Amino acid sequence: VVELACQVCEERFEAKRSTAKYCSERCKKRAQRGAGAKNAETREQETRSGLGSVAAATLIELQEAKRLQTPLGQAALALAHRLDMSQMDTGQAVASLAKQLQQTLEAATADAQLENDPVDEVRAARERKLRAVAG
Ligand SMILES: [Zn+2]
Repeated sequence: VVELACQVCEERFEAKRSTAKYCSERCKKRAQRGAGAKNAETREQETRSGLGSVAAATLIELQEAKRLQTPLGQAALALAHRLDMSQMDTGQAVASLAKQLQQTLEAATADAQLENDPVDEVRAARERKLRAVAG
């Protein structure tokens, strides 16, 4: 019997094997759920902050490119937010906003070193959405 610290609650516990990680089944389950629960929490925060899908995708792309705090980055975010709220605009205004956002975002992230996979996915999702609203 060895005394170990639980990786979840940090309580010390007596384990039969030195490879044991958790004090109880409850902590083991909590650890296994950890990753999924974290994602759900992030989604919940995004929903709570009131960002629509275009603004959320734009925010992520700007953060990944480390261009969120630039004037162009902020302009792109404002445009994205406007697009999400665009029920009040005409179809033509929305199409023009979408085009403007695309150009602003391209300019904002032009010199950034983008990591391939997650950003490409976000960009693809945004472009699908922009194409949908632009017709
Ligand atoms: Zn524990």
